[in-house]
Amino acid sequence: MLPQSCPIKTDRLLGVDLLAKFEFCARAGLLSAEIQSEDTGEEEDMPQRLDYLPDYDEVIIRHRLTSLMRNFWLISGSLLIELLCIGYFAKARMELSVLCGVVMCVSLFWWFSVFRAITVLRRRLDAASQAAPREPDEGHLIEETFNWWDIRKAGYQVDRMPEPMVDPGKGIIGRPWRVLRKGDIRIPVFRKHRGDRSVHSQQRVRIAAYCHLIETCEGSKAPFGLVLFSGSYDAVLIPNGRTNMSLLDTTIATARRVLRADTECQHLEAPARSCCKSCPLGSPAPVTENSVTSPESNHGVHPVVGLGGQLFHSPCGDRFRWIPPHESAERLRLRKA
Ligand code: SF4
Repeated sequence: MLPQSCPIKTDRLLGVDLLAKFEFCARAGLLSAEIQSEDTGEEEDMPQRLDYLPDYDEVIIRHRLTSLMRNFWLISGSLLIELLCIGYFAKARMELSVLCGVVMCVSLFWWFSVFRAITVLRRRLDAASQAAPREPDEGHLIEETFNWWDIRKAGYQVDRMPEPMVDPGKGIIGRPWRVLRKGDIRIPVFRKHRGDRSVHSQQRVRIAAYCHLIETCEGSKAPFGLVLFSGSYDAVLIPNGRTNMSLLDTTIATARRVLRADTECQHLEAPARSCCKSCPLGSPAPVTENSVTSPESNHGVHPVVGLGGQLFHSPCGDRFRWIPPHESAERLRLRKA
């Protein structure tokens, strides 16, 4: 099935996440525009893991540690009782002794996972307590790496915005992952999960948009934002300078132009090959019965053939009827079906 015209309202508010995608690649922006999603201030497709442990808020870490310590002592106590039961029943009721042994194995497994979690949280609290206050001054003009806990120690409180901010003037909407507050200064934080630990123009656009939204909606000062790398306390400070603001304006104009131009929806120029190498939208997945990439816009699957004759597809490949030069495409030797 060929792609149909884009059912996009061009006068809609543009999400900050969408703008970042447009800055990265117009095709990625268009694909995201067709699948409405909320801006959460961090990269999408990051499901919460069951064994998730808090890592950036000292109060929450302490709270979790207290409850884990309680569990730890409870499980330790039950392990002791189970051990005594094994010994007690071993003489007369071997089957009960075996049953107690099975329960003890389960408790032991639980004990180790709680112990591991306590160790991790203690390490995080150590990092927080060893921090030395360090903060950028308001006129900071260069991108520089700061430690998350050093900034927190300098007196910044961390906040989560309950609702996204909207600026009808520029027509943008968004909500950073967290906001650091001190006096009348606000620092929006974006959390980066994927790729290398470097900052690209799409993150600069994102930070410029968050700073603009904070200044417009709250009337506070937002002289810079932070890009925090997941799994570390390294945070790159991005100044909210004129260059990034004009990059934001250019991206908004590009996004509106692309979303307005019906013909461009299907014939957008592809970016440099390097952009596609690790782009999740170009990552090939096996075609299955349930393969539907964009039900909202009615685009069908565009299968391509890989090693052993297996069929693959990707969101970008389906939408623009091509084989994105993703690193896996070469490995799988994808070709037209
Ligand atoms: S695969 Fe390439 S063209 Fe497609 S969205 Fe990603 S970067 Fe853009």
